[in-house]
Amino acid sequence: MTDGAPAPLSAPVADTGLRCPRCRYNLTGLAQPRCPECGTVFDWEDVRRAADPTPTIAFERARGRHRVPAFLWTALTVLFAPWVFARQVVRRARLRSALGFAALCLAATALSLLFDWAPDVYVVWMVTAAAYLPVQALALSLLDVPGWSQPLRALRFWLIVGGYTCAVMVPEIYTGPPLLTFRDLWLQLDWHFIGTPGAAPTAQWRFAPTLWEGSLDALIGWSQLGLWLAGPACCMYARWRTARQPRLRSAVAALLVVPAGLGLYAVAVEFVGLPLGVALNRWNLF
Ligand SMILES: [Zn+2]
Repeated sequence: MTDGAPAPLSAPVADTGLRCPRCRYNLTGLAQPRCPECGTVFDWEDVRRAADPTPTIAFERARGRHRVPAFLWTALTVLFAPWVFARQVVRRARLRSALGFAALCLAATALSLLFDWAPDVYVVWMVTAAAYLPVQALALSLLDVPGWSQPLRALRFWLIVGGYTCAVMVPEIYTGPPLLTFRDLWLQLDWHFIGTPGAAPTAQWRFAPTLWEGSLDALIGWSQLGLWLAGPACCMYARWRTARQPRLRSAVAALLVVPAGLGLYAVAVEFVGLPLGVALNRWNLF
């Protein structure tokens, strides 16, 4: 307040922490459930819940040795109840905790070395995952249209989601990551939907029959991809709903996460994982 400004007539109201779910405008002292800044009509109950500082994600609530069961509980929630995780993460989540969670998942994946996975596969896997995560956050921020007004907040949110959805690496310790390359994916799409005769996915593909022929490996691989993508898709739905978008529009946005995630993952395997694997073999580092 500048000198000479009139003294307030009443005592200043303490900040209640209530914020507009869309633009974060301070709603302290407002009577109507409508944001004076962006015009969003909100539900007081949702706004109060969002202002509650108690962490909603088990991994963020736990302290000390309780973090071990909390890590497992959070991983199980992300993988098998992604809609619950989505409701938690839109309400409150910390970037630092999400990155810590991701680091734990990446570290736990080192156990895969006990299951005959060669060290070069492990290195390729970790580097590909680390390169993929920021790209996924950028792509999902672009898809997150209601979040465009606050791009940095959106990017932070999708980095958090990317961090927690690293939970899918834990079951992959035994089976390894699904080997989906962009070339194999493109051959399949070309063959089935465009029908280019030269695209018959025979000896051209890289990892047949890993994901493309009826086998247990293929079932496991697609299940892993499904478990993983259900997380960001549910988060997209919850985020659009929090921004008061209609159900149908939110569901379409959530469904778009699946092809976007698959495509980006395949690009990461093709252009980061494969060249790195070839280079490590050539240099005989392992
Ligand atoms: Zn607002």
